[in-house]
Amino acid sequence: MTKINIIGQSREALTTQFKEMGLPAFRVQQVWNWLYHHGVRSFELMNNISAEGRSKLNDFYTIERPAVAQAQSSVDGTQKWLLKFSDGQEAETVHIPEVDRGTLCISSQVGCTLTCSFCHTGTQMLVRNLTSAEIVGQVMVARDVFHEWPTPIGNRHVSNVVLMGMGEPLYNYDNVATAIKILTDEKGLSLSKRKITLSTSGIVPMIERCGTELGISLAISLHAVTDELRNELVPINRKYPLKELLEACRNYPNVSNARRITFEYVMLKGVNDSVAEAKKLVQLISGIPAKINLIPFNPWPGSPYECSTPQAISAFAEVVYRAGYASPVRTPRGRDILAACGQLKSESVRARKSKCSDISLEIPVETAAA
Ligand code: SAH
Ligand code: SF4
Repeated sequence: MTKINIIGQSREALTTQFKEMGLPAFRVQQVWNWLYHHGVRSFELMNNISAEGRSKLNDFYTIERPAVAQAQSSVDGTQKWLLKFSDGQEAETVHIPEVDRGTLCISSQVGCTLTCSFCHTGTQMLVRNLTSAEIVGQVMVARDVFHEWPTPIGNRHVSNVVLMGMGEPLYNYDNVATAIKILTDEKGLSLSKRKITLSTSGIVPMIERCGTELGISLAISLHAVTDELRNELVPINRKYPLKELLEACRNYPNVSNARRITFEYVMLKGVNDSVAEAKKLVQLISGIPAKINLIPFNPWPGSPYECSTPQAISAFAEVVYRAGYASPVRTPRGRDILAACGQLKSESVRARKSKCSDISLEIPVETAAA
């Protein structure tokens, strides 16, 4: 019998499997505590489970994390790990330390089926969805690195998680949902729901489900204020145009001033960065509790765009800010180790390129474009 990885199995699945194995349901809670609170890598260490129970678990399951194929550290403290999964596929995970938190940028797919014209991942075909184990595993690897076992009570190095790495998370909804339920369960990895942000290119029919079932924060890759331009930059817009997308944002469950939707807007020189577009942007999202993240474009070899000038970014940010929206400009992090937006790539398969977003720093508009 092939063993299965116990990491990433939902509570419900484990309860059913345990029943079949003759283990009582309360063992699920104990095993989760060992796995996600203590981070153990062996059933032998689960000393409140009988030897017989441990041996059953051992016969049925493995406890498997992705392997760290390569680790790099930036001068700014950002770390990037190239993770290798059991079938040899790879993805990168990035940790960005900030003063009061640490954000982990994780991937949901190897590659992407969508073809956003400014995104490196978009030039790569989808290889496959990541499993829930591989999604949860990215967080566990980071916690291993920071020795965050058992789960610390106060400040954590891994306090925030953003699904902004490779892939479109709402096209791998089931695995993402299972993983997020483990990440946010207080008996799981115990991360706060509001500190997990899912970024989507705008898969409208899945947005409400994401809010109702998962209750996490939402980021929308907007990038353009007209359908004409968005069709070109984010081609899924042809299927789910701006009007429908913004309607889904207005209806996002639990959205409020305390829980705002983030609109991501990549700054492309001469393409979407005019003051007129900034004005249109604030009109478009009016009434939606929102913040806007301006992302300086990170070029990649052969990319058809350039990053907007600091002046253009400043002028754009100013309009947004004056309209009453927080408009942090993302400061690229980890550029020296190619960990910023559009810079990730697989080291072992050179032709395959991916990206992960750099993470927003809430810096004042005046210094944003400095
Ligand atoms: N597929 C999801 C999540 C991954 S992309 C989505 O599209 O939202 C995460 C963020 O990085 C998105 O806002 C994306 O538009 C942005 N991004 C992609 N390539 C980039 C690049 N080269 N420079 C700057 N931002 C980029
Ligand atoms: Fe896929 Fe997001 Fe990149 Fe678009 S921006 S190609 S949806 S990863």
